[in-house]
Amino acid sequence: MKIKKNDMVVCCAGKDKGKKGKVLSVLPAKNRAIVEGVNLIKRHTRKTREDRQGGIVQKEAPINLSKMMLFCAKCNKPARVGFSFLKDGTKVRVCKKCSEVIG
Ligand SMILES: [Zn+2]
Repeated sequence: MKIKKNDMVVCCAGKDKGKKGKVLSVLPAKNRAIVEGVNLIKRHTRKTREDRQGGIVQKEAPINLSKMMLFCAKCNKPARVGFSFLKDGTKVRVCKKCSEVIG
């Protein structure tokens, strides 16, 4: 899994192309993730005792991981990701362009 919770990712397809956001959660079984501010859907809520107004709220819908790219802070753009190993054997993700460790 290349994308994990709290990663910064960039949407590279669809209506939110180019939008950047933080991964709020990953749904591995569905190969999707929920990303802050990306793929917003409007949801109509009913009036409840807690929310007397009801109305429309915006909410992030899960988006396919294939539409997401990890963001490299050093390159300041979406990164192609490779894997590398630290001296202690820990597997890490690196930006293929600048070799910076991501996440
Ligand atoms: Zn980079």
